[in-house]
Amino acid sequence: MNASTEKMTVGFIGLGIMGQSMAGHILAAGHDLCVYNRTRAKADDLVARGAVWKDSPGDVAAACDVVITIVGYPKDVEEVYLAPGGIVERARDGAILIDMTTSSPELAQRIAAAAADRGLAALDAPVSGGDVGARAGTLAIMVGGDAAAFDKAMPLFDAMGGKIVHMGAAGAGQHTKMANQIAIASTMLAVSESLSYAKAAGLDQTAVLDAIGTGAASSFLLNGLGPKMVAGDYAPGFFVHHFVKDMSIALAEAERMQIDLPGLTLARGLYQRLVDGGFGEDGTQALYRVYTQMTGA
Ligand code: NAP
Repeated sequence: MNASTEKMTVGFIGLGIMGQSMAGHILAAGHDLCVYNRTRAKADDLVARGAVWKDSPGDVAAACDVVITIVGYPKDVEEVYLAPGGIVERARDGAILIDMTTSSPELAQRIAAAAADRGLAALDAPVSGGDVGARAGTLAIMVGGDAAAFDKAMPLFDAMGGKIVHMGAAGAGQHTKMANQIAIASTMLAVSESLSYAKAAGLDQTAVLDAIGTGAASSFLLNGLGPKMVAGDYAPGFFVHHFVKDMSIALAEAERMQIDLPGLTLARGLYQRLVDGGFGEDGTQALYRVYTQMTGA
């Protein structure tokens, strides 16, 4: 922690693929850390490093200056924040509440309003950069909500991220994340189709990735997930079922705004086939399975 950074007591709820690493960065930055997760064993490493286990989201909130959450679905966010005895009810006066889950803009606004009723600030701060970015502390963090709370939380965002942007009022962070997921959805189709075509043309797919990976088609997804598709490595960095959740939120928002997003609609349909086929716990690169007709090859 540099001399100008105030030490805070930070609560962290949700210690999955993303939260484990992100909470670790908060601890490494010198802050006191309280943790809670649905499955307790996932807190073991952090507790061994000095974090303090609490028995519920409300208990975390009662003990901390800042509460950070990155759980799974909007229903999980709603439960930890708004259920009786949850974070909003039990947060300390002056606490800052930060949800980093990819969740709905409407829920972010509802949580901010409930927090404001208690004189608290709530930020929606979803992230991009995947498990790799979480481990490296280089996530892109897109934030909606009160500007003064954003400024106060900046040292914590800095510990977890590389690109941190205040996008506007409550919900603006989630809307920005939806724009991100919409770009990813069609890119994943493009990478899968490119590799599928290369194979059908009798090309060495790895050589194709090497050849096009620094040209105009270059992208984080082509270079990061393309090789995994070629190798048939579908281990999750980002779960298929979470991506379907994100695309469903984005499509609902698009419908509300009366705009048509055909690429997103197509991608959600193909990813839904993976979920229906029992591949929801694969990583998003498993879209390539659809192109190999779900043979698992
Ligand atoms: P994950 O591994 O499933 O982690 C979610 C964690 O939250 C799990 O440990 C889960 O507990 C815990 N949890 C869920 N509901 C809870 C509740 N009600 N109370 C307490 N703990 C609860 O998923 P992840 O990959 O870290 O993703 C988390 C969020 O970030 C998702 O919204 C996802 O869309 C988003 N995201 C993920 C990535 C990525 O690349 N992975 C990138 C950007 C954004 P259990 O241990 O019991 O399951």
